[in-house]
Amino acid sequence: MKIPNSLLEKSDKGTPKAIILFIGETKAFNLLFRQTHSTLILLSEVVKMMKFNAILALIFSSVSMASDFSCPDGKTYPVSLTFDDGPAGAKTLKALDILKKNDVKGTFFVLGENFDSEEKRKANYPILERMKREGHTIGSHTFNHIPHTAVSTERAFSNIDRATELLKGYMAPIVRLPYGDGSFATSKPEKKLASEKVMKHIKEKGLTHVGWSIDTNDWDVKKRPFVLESMMKQICQQHGGVILFHDIHQNTIDHLEGWISELKKAGHRIEPLNYFYKNLDSNVVSKKEDFMGYCQSNQNKSMPIDNLSKKINEICNKIK
Ligand SMILES: [Zn+2]
Repeated sequence: MKIPNSLLEKSDKGTPKAIILFIGETKAFNLLFRQTHSTLILLSEVVKMMKFNAILALIFSSVSMASDFSCPDGKTYPVSLTFDDGPAGAKTLKALDILKKNDVKGTFFVLGENFDSEEKRKANYPILERMKREGHTIGSHTFNHIPHTAVSTERAFSNIDRATELLKGYMAPIVRLPYGDGSFATSKPEKKLASEKVMKHIKEKGLTHVGWSIDTNDWDVKKRPFVLESMMKQICQQHGGVILFHDIHQNTIDHLEGWISELKKAGHRIEPLNYFYKNLDSNVVSKKEDFMGYCQSNQNKSMPIDNLSKKINEICNKIK
């Protein structure tokens, strides 16, 4: 290789220019290398950071997806939503909008007294039509909202029958007594006798009494701030069940969508009533009280000791 003469020329300090150039280029290369190296290090740090951030984002999103109300045993349970005391005009219609939007089928136990005048029938039968059309179940909550064991047998029977008559063509053959009064086990002899009579009458009329196992107390102004916590706790303790709401209270309607969202976030499945009452669909029900679905989902669980749980336990033991 022929080195150009200009490169062999000496610099002012006597060093050939080619060497100066070489040293300069090496320095430049070293600098470039160092810069590239540090750039690479920087890049790898950025990638690490990005990975870390991605992990953080993942953790954050899973934390934000995780429910505050997940059951301590890590399990999820079936529940069914029931609404008593309506129809209540705009409130019930709003509840139906929310159920439709969230693809949830509920059960409405309606009062016969809401159909005892032409005006009420005109307002309320279309609501029942919509419930049926949208796949909900309608049940009787009897005519007047009275405690059936505290009135005469005649009054109790006619209060049940009058509602059944007015709800014909709409209701499934199911009834929920107001306050559940008449359906609970009791040791008081008079109340026990009255309860037996009422339950026998319901059975003779081809109806099934449908209770509830998760009481939200949404009607109680003092307990309203705790509806969500209480409901979620009971679901975990009782391994799911039939939830009681009231569509006549604005507070319930205002929070319903949020509660449904929390139920779903905790992984619970919102099932129609026939999940718990196996042979019940919107218009057909077994004449025998059937807790099969509920009992199957509650195998080996330890139940809290209260009257309702005891009653459900008894039924589950009977049908085993
Ligand atoms: Zn009621």
